[in-house]
Amino acid sequence: MIQRDCLREVPVAGADDRSVYLTFDDGPNPFSTPQILDVLAEHRVPATFFVVGVFAKEQPDLIRRIVAEGHDVANHTMTHPDLTACEPQDIEREINEASRAILSACPEAAVRHIRAPYGAWTEDVLSKSASAGLEAVHWSSDPRDWSRPGVDAIVDAVLSTARPGAIVLLHDGCPPDEVGLSGLRDQTLLALSRLIPALHSRGFAIRLLP
Ligand SMILES: [Zn+2]
Repeated sequence: MIQRDCLREVPVAGADDRSVYLTFDDGPNPFSTPQILDVLAEHRVPATFFVVGVFAKEQPDLIRRIVAEGHDVANHTMTHPDLTACEPQDIEREINEASRAILSACPEAAVRHIRAPYGAWTEDVLSKSASAGLEAVHWSSDPRDWSRPGVDAIVDAVLSTARPGAIVLLHDGCPPDEVGLSGLRDQTLLALSRLIPALHSRGFAIRLLP
């Protein structure tokens, strides 16, 4: 696996730039995503949602809500495969179908970014993403919220890795082949409602990916 040419942290614009970036993968989920959106709205904070195309197709209203509330929708492939195990034409199809699913749910969505499932990038995935006009985005802060390590553990992991330019990986859903196994995002939700004020009190500004 090659991990270069994808954005892991956003370059800092100057000494007083204390931007951090929240990202949510594997939705939209009819149960968790509305709750996450409610918390973001309460704190007036934007986020980028890396959505799975098949879920976007099932939940077009949620895609429209995400966009209407000022967040970004980004590409997390159509079916969430490990792209390192896919044929070149399948990689291309996974990327393009997901963008189409997002745009057919919400034509106003500006799909600018992509994140490979499991962060599994290859040269081929990076070049096909670039051909599709999508910037590859990895992360710098991973509290492993999907493994449900406890709310405190999620909060502490993010705060201990937060620094200007940090890209935080969280999950508002779970991959199609894991639905029902680890699908609960209650810890992510509770952690988020503590994280936002904690980041603000440390002087961070939560922004949309540039
Ligand atoms: Zn994922």
